Amino acid sequence: MAQNQVSIQSKLSGGGATIFSVMSKLATEHRAINLGQGFPDFECDEKLKELVSKYVTDGMNQYCPMAGLPKLNETLSKKMEGLYGMPIKPDTQICVTAGATQALYTAIMAFVNTGDEVIIFEPAYDCYTPQIHLAGGVVKPYSMTYPDYAIDWDRVKDMVNDKTRMIIINTPHNPSGTILSKGDMQSLEAIVKDTNIIVLSDEVYEHLIYDGEEHQSIMRFPTLFNQSMAVFSFGKTLHATGWKMGYVVGPEYLVSEFKSIHQWNVFCTNSFVQFAIADYLSDSKNYTYLPSFFQEKRDTMNSLLADTPLTPKVAKGTYFQAYSYAEVSDMDDLAFAKYLTTAIGVAAIPMSPFYTNPPGDKVIRLCFAKRTETIEAAAERLMKLKG
Ligand code: PMP
Ligand code: GLN
Repeated sequence: MAQNQVSIQSKLSGGGATIFSVMSKLATEHRAINLGQGFPDFECDEKLKELVSKYVTDGMNQYCPMAGLPKLNETLSKKMEGLYGMPIKPDTQICVTAGATQALYTAIMAFVNTGDEVIIFEPAYDCYTPQIHLAGGVVKPYSMTYPDYAIDWDRVKDMVNDKTRMIIINTPHNPSGTILSKGDMQSLEAIVKDTNIIVLSDEVYEHLIYDGEEHQSIMRFPTLFNQSMAVFSFGKTLHATGWKMGYVVGPEYLVSEFKSIHQWNVFCTNSFVQFAIADYLSDSKNYTYLPSFFQEKRDTMNSLLADTPLTPKVAKGTYFQAYSYAEVSDMDDLAFAKYLTTAIGVAAIPMSPFYTNPPGDKVIRLCFAKRTETIEAAAERLMKLKG
C-alpha cells in the first residue's frame, strides 16, 4: 500500500543528481572507462594506510578538538608557512573539515546573507551555486570560455557593487585546468581592497601544478589574505577522495566565525585519520613529488590522445584537461559526453553543467589521475572517433 507523503518545498531549483553522479552511473552501466568524475584509480601510499590502521588500533577513535587535532593543525601551519611564507596560528587560523565541499558550504553559510551577491567564475565547480542559493545569496556569474578561460579584471570590477559580499576564486581551476597568475591575484587584491568583500579561495589542487609554475595561493598576498579564506582537500593531495577530509585557513576573525557555524553542523571530523595525516604530511617529500607525478600523467594522456580528433587545452594545473570535440561532432556537450560513454566506452564530463548560461562550447573534460594502462585503454577506444 502506498505510504502517505508530506508535502515539501525544495530549497533548490533544478533538483536532480550532480553531473558526476550521472556520468559515473552511466559509466558503470555501460562498463565505460571512467575519465569523468575526478578520482584516482590507483591506491594511496601504503605508508599512509599503515598510519591510519595504526591509529585505529591504538584507540584514537574518540572526538578530538572541534577545529582539528592540535598535532595536525601544527603540521599544516608549518607546511603553509614553508610553501607560501605566511605564518599561520595553528590554534586560531585553521579549521579541519569533512572535505572541501563542507568547508565551502560552511564558509558560504557563515558569510553570505539573504540578498548578498557572490561573484563566481564559470565554468565553476558545481557546488558553489547551490550552496550560495541555500544561504539566500544571489549568484553573479562571470563567464570564461574555451580555449583561454581568461579573466578580464576590469569586467569583474564592473560587476562589484554595494551588495557584493563574496568573490569565489579557484586556482588551479576545475574544470578548465587553468591557473591564476600573480598579476591576476594582484588585480583581485586591488578590486577588493577597502571593500567589505570576502574572497573564498578554493585551492584544493594547490599541489597539482605543472610546467614549473608556482601556485599563487591567497597566502602569498598578505593584504588580500586579511579578507580571505582558503579551502583545501586532503582527497586530492593524498589520492584519497573517499576520506572526505579538508581544512580552511584564514585570518583569526573569519576563522572564528567559520568555527561558530562548523561546531553546529560537523563539530569535529574523525580522529584517527587526522593523526595519520599529521604524521604523513610532516615529511614534505610526501607532497613535493605531486607536480611531476601528475605532469607525467598529463603528458602521457596528451601523447596517447594526439591522434584522436579531440583538441586539448593543455592543463597547467588540476588533474583535468578540457578537450574540444568540434572537429568530430555537432552534438551538444551533454549528448556528446553520453555518446562517448555509451558508444565509445569512455566516460567524460560535459562543461555546460558548470555554467549558469552555457556558452555552447563543444568541450568536455577528461581526468588523467589514472594508471598508464587505463589511459592507454581509453586512448585506444577514443581512436574510434577517427571513423
Ligand atoms: N573544489 C573543487 C574545485 C573540487 O574539484 C572539488 C572536488 N574534488 C572540491 C572542491 C570538493 O572536494 P572534497 O571532495 O574534499 O569535498
Ligand atoms: N571534484 C570531483 C570532480 O570534479 C568530483 C567530486 C564529486 O563527485 N562530488 O570530478
